[in-house]
Amino acid sequence: MLKGIGASGGIGIGNAVIIKEEDLSYTPKKAEDIPAELDRFRKAAADFCAETETMAKKLKASASENEADILMGHILMIQDPYMSGEIEKQIQNGQCAESALESVCDMFISVFSSADDELTNQRAADVRDIKSGILRILLGVEKTDISALPAGTILAAKELTPSMTAGIKRENVSAILTEEGGKTSHSAILARALEIPAVLSVKDICSVLENGQQVIADGTKGEVLLSPTDTELKIYTKKRDVYLKEREELKQYIGKETKTADGVRLELAGNIGTPDDAVKVMECDGEGVGLFRTEFLFMDREQLPTEEEQFEAYKKAALTLKGKPLIIRTLDIGGDKDIPYMGLEKEENPFLGFRAVRFCLQREDIYRPQLRAILRSSAYGNVHIMVPLVTCLEELISVKQEIEMLKQELKEKNVSFNKNIKIGVMIETPAASLIADLLAKEADFFSIGTNDLTGYTMAVDRGNKNVAYLYSPFQPAVLRSIEHIIQCGKKENIPVGMCGEAAADPKLIPLLLAFGLDEFSVTATSVLETRKNISKWTIEQAAALKEKVMAMKTEKEVTEFLKEI
Ligand code: PEP
Ligand code: MG
Repeated sequence: MLKGIGASGGIGIGNAVIIKEEDLSYTPKKAEDIPAELDRFRKAAADFCAETETMAKKLKASASENEADILMGHILMIQDPYMSGEIEKQIQNGQCAESALESVCDMFISVFSSADDELTNQRAADVRDIKSGILRILLGVEKTDISALPAGTILAAKELTPSMTAGIKRENVSAILTEEGGKTSHSAILARALEIPAVLSVKDICSVLENGQQVIADGTKGEVLLSPTDTELKIYTKKRDVYLKEREELKQYIGKETKTADGVRLELAGNIGTPDDAVKVMECDGEGVGLFRTEFLFMDREQLPTEEEQFEAYKKAALTLKGKPLIIRTLDIGGDKDIPYMGLEKEENPFLGFRAVRFCLQREDIYRPQLRAILRSSAYGNVHIMVPLVTCLEELISVKQEIEMLKQELKEKNVSFNKNIKIGVMIETPAASLIADLLAKEADFFSIGTNDLTGYTMAVDRGNKNVAYLYSPFQPAVLRSIEHIIQCGKKENIPVGMCGEAAADPKLIPLLLAFGLDEFSVTATSVLETRKNISKWTIEQAAALKEKVMAMKTEKEVTEFLKEI
């Protein structure tokens, strides 16, 4: 069995088709006629843009707008004067179009690949795609067409480029295998959007596999079986059918209210990183957005987004949600989320450092435009503001004062906004949990961020494999903290939600129901499953379970017990 990264769930069984890389070799020459060479490049770039636009349109129909945007981004990149200007400069210096294109693209690829964050690394894949796309046109090489693959194909490639994926017909491709790419790579995003199981970063898969060989790919576990035995085939066919049946069954929860078995109504929202993700939340029948991680608007670019750009993004999400709640979290950078152009100092302990609300309160030049943009967007929907990483009351009070001041300013300028906009706090530090009673008197709502709350409560860096075993929301310390936060919120009559990953954990859900959580905010694709898991419990059953669990002394005891439910 081969191991890789399970990047898109489900099981695919079929026969391998290996996509060989196109032969784009050439002999570099000196450009004899420079104007003619410039023309060759410009024409190839224009053809590439036209081809890419057509593919983006196709992709928009088969996957979603988000995925099509990736391809449209290629057009913007090659049209960027910096990139195309640099290529033309090389041609003017006497290089042929092919080698000018290659040397400039390679320079961008090496800059993007050496960045510390995965999102910037992904840009390298985009530039590789642009390079091979234009090179292919310049060399007159026929494009590999993957739209005509036979049914039951297990597609294997070194890396699946967005332009390749645009041609995929979902009904013919049972699974995707690649040698490169992680969970957030384009291949992964596209595979998930097309609902095709995918295992990425499988070492040497293209050389190990033979065309036509039978393969089983488990995209949930990240496993690949080559030439399976009859028994393996039987086991995995059954697993695949169970998976597909479960997915089909989830569809019955579309359009239903989120409620417990005894009819207690809960809110079930989605987490988003871009306004386009709000479309996905609506498609998945989310009842709003419980967390808009606005830092994504600041990432993957060279300078700060302007107030106008942010306003457009927040407004777009608010309009998409058509009056459903949209909780916009103010900028949460620092820690594991670096934004290179902000020039943040390297810190000894970034997780305990200058991040989130601490950073924002000292950088009015960044915070005020964001708060103004959010306030202005509140005229277009049910917008709320949420403050991350609060550890003391003064932080919340300072943010509220900033907002009051900005409201005054907007009022004087006759700009519309919601005067009664709600301001909530993310409870994601032990300090915030311990003063939740005080914060609840000042906040309009709470949302528990279990990703950070678990790490800070257990003093554990989950990326450190020697201590990762401590990172669990089922640790009695974390469970007590969650219960306490919810109780404090209830006492002051403010709604309490949860937007950390744990909100979708089927084993935690009954405990959260018994604690009295009001809102669950999960990834869009987990909305229906969470609705189903909530509907399985009556409050009485959940309370009985909670009594037992909260009397337990260790995480092991808790998880062993919950295995049985
Ligand atoms: C959290 O900490 O639980 C959370 C939702 O925030 P993020 O994962 O963005 O830090
Ligand atoms: Mg957090």
